Amino acid sequence: MLAAAPERLLALDYDGTLAPFTAHRNDAALYPGIAQLLIDVQRQGTHIAFVTGRPAQELAERLPLSAVEIFGAHGQEHLATTGTLTRAPLPQEARKWLDEAAGLITGTGFERALERKYGTVAIHWRREDQDGRARLTALAADLARTLPADLHGLAFDGGYEFRARGRDKGTAIAELSARHPRALMAYLGDDLTDEDAFAALPQDGLAVLVRAEPRPSRAHLWLRPPDELRSFLGTWMGVAR
Ligand SMILES: [Mg+2]
Repeated sequence: MLAAAPERLLALDYDGTLAPFTAHRNDAALYPGIAQLLIDVQRQGTHIAFVTGRPAQELAERLPLSAVEIFGAHGQEHLATTGTLTRAPLPQEARKWLDEAAGLITGTGFERALERKYGTVAIHWRREDQDGRARLTALAADLARTLPADLHGLAFDGGYEFRARGRDKGTAIAELSARHPRALMAYLGDDLTDEDAFAALPQDGLAVLVRAEPRPSRAHLWLRPPDELRSFLGTWMGVAR
């Protein structure tokens, strides 16, 4: 099926999927060998797009590929291969709430746990001790009670995030697949937020969970990184040849 496809599209999450988690997110680098595989896959004619929770431009700077399409901030941003960045409109009330929530998190002494992105406030407790996690969990629950209608809260692996409704990794995949209706498409992701992307794939799309341990998922396939991830990318190229 892959060999016969007129077009091939590989959509990829970054953190936890292609790059192992690190205590400091700026240190998160691709698993060994992945950069060259991505370059080769792209060179062979597969359209590669990234779908990430990171700001699109922040991810672009980390990638070995130039002119790559990125859906950032969980679909709130889109960076085209031309370098044009577009953002989903953010209602005034939502913007104000996010500013206030960020201020509150900083005010309670957890600035290090705060990640501010367009349309998003995330609380990371991966690096916290048990007490820190408990306090941040309680803070997230308090904030969740005051959320305006345009925002919603979501758990992810290692934290909690508040973000604007209407865009997520699933809407990014739906947009990609609408733009590439003839493409055979796969999406690789590790986290709960990637389930939206798995669900939005076209019927013949391949959903791939990349994770050290399996978990309940919509994915068709589970890969343990980095060895099985490298094998997958190698097989993708081998079959598409
Ligand atoms: Mg991830």
